[in-house]
Amino acid sequence: MIRKPLADLAKNPFDVVVIGAGINGSGAAQEIVARGYRVLIVDKDDFAAGATNRSSRILHCGLRHLAPGKSVWDFVVCTQKEVDWMLSEINFVIPKLNLTRGDVHYTYAGIQPVSYDAKDPKGTRQIRVHDLSDEGFPNLLMLTGGPIMTYRIIGSDLADAVAKRISPSGSARELSYFPSAVTEKIQKEQSGHSTGPLGATILKRIIEEEQTSSLIDLFFRRSDMGWDPDRGGAKLASAARIMAETLGWDDAQQQQQIDSYHSYIEEVFPSHR
Ligand SMILES: Cc1cc2nc3c(=O)[nH]c(=O)nc-3n(C[C@H](O)[C@H](O)[C@H](O)COP(=O)(O)OP(=O)(O)OC[C@H]3O[C@@H](n4cnc5c(N)ncnc54)[C@H](O)[C@@H]3O)c2cc1C
Repeated sequence: MIRKPLADLAKNPFDVVVIGAGINGSGAAQEIVARGYRVLIVDKDDFAAGATNRSSRILHCGLRHLAPGKSVWDFVVCTQKEVDWMLSEINFVIPKLNLTRGDVHYTYAGIQPVSYDAKDPKGTRQIRVHDLSDEGFPNLLMLTGGPIMTYRIIGSDLADAVAKRISPSGSARELSYFPSAVTEKIQKEQSGHSTGPLGATILKRIIEEEQTSSLIDLFFRRSDMGWDPDRGGAKLASAARIMAETLGWDDAQQQQQIDSYHSYIEEVFPSHR
């Protein structure tokens, strides 16, 4: 669905507002909707634009993430030392790979926000739901420290916490974890090779049905084109044309989107070969 004007929000009252559309906000919204609540989910940027995006899609639970006590995380880059450390860890676990810096296409880093702990300046990895009513914000809950792997449990816990406070205005419905029709089509088009090209028809559907408003949304958060070894370079011009046609961008807007995409790549993937 193409993004609707914010003024439309005033027409419908909501039971619950979820702020932040990362994995945990989205997972919580899904669980809360399933219990019959009308939910508004808002994000200052885009779905999965924060830490959720930085984890790429290669999930692990063992290797270290950068984890400072605060959640200020702009412009974090991998140092040469960290690249070497990662390579030595991988070569230790799978010696046959014998990877060197020459095998690294690009590097990126991100910070995993963790919960505050007065005893540990690095914070704690414990997942916490804070009730802010004692601080003058009744019915405001805040989640800290949630990784990706536990998002369904966190969503369900948050839905339980909501249920203790208000009743839903609608009826409960069954939660589906099946991929959307668009995701299924992407999987079909790419079957066998994960970075196969996506056709114009599917790109148009992603733009129209998934609130895609920039090339960065399209390449990094609606498809995996941005994770190609050339970081989406070969597909950029044709995708920009399709977006321009679908969203009615003029030439200047199209060029501005391409420029923003290049700036994002330079910021997020500084080369460390
Ligand atoms: C390099 C790296 C690797 C990782 N690997 C793994 C892994 O293998 N397994 C795993 O389980 N976890 C992993 N993690 C951790 C995991 O990515 C994060 O813990 C998780 O994504 C946090 O999700 P979240 O929804 O809580 O926060 P976020 O994804 O950061 O979402 C918060 C959202 O809130 C929005 N927002 C912020 N402020 C406002 C505001 N004022 N108003 C409106 N919106 C706002 C942001 O735009 C953002 O979209 C990794 C993290 C990193 C950095």
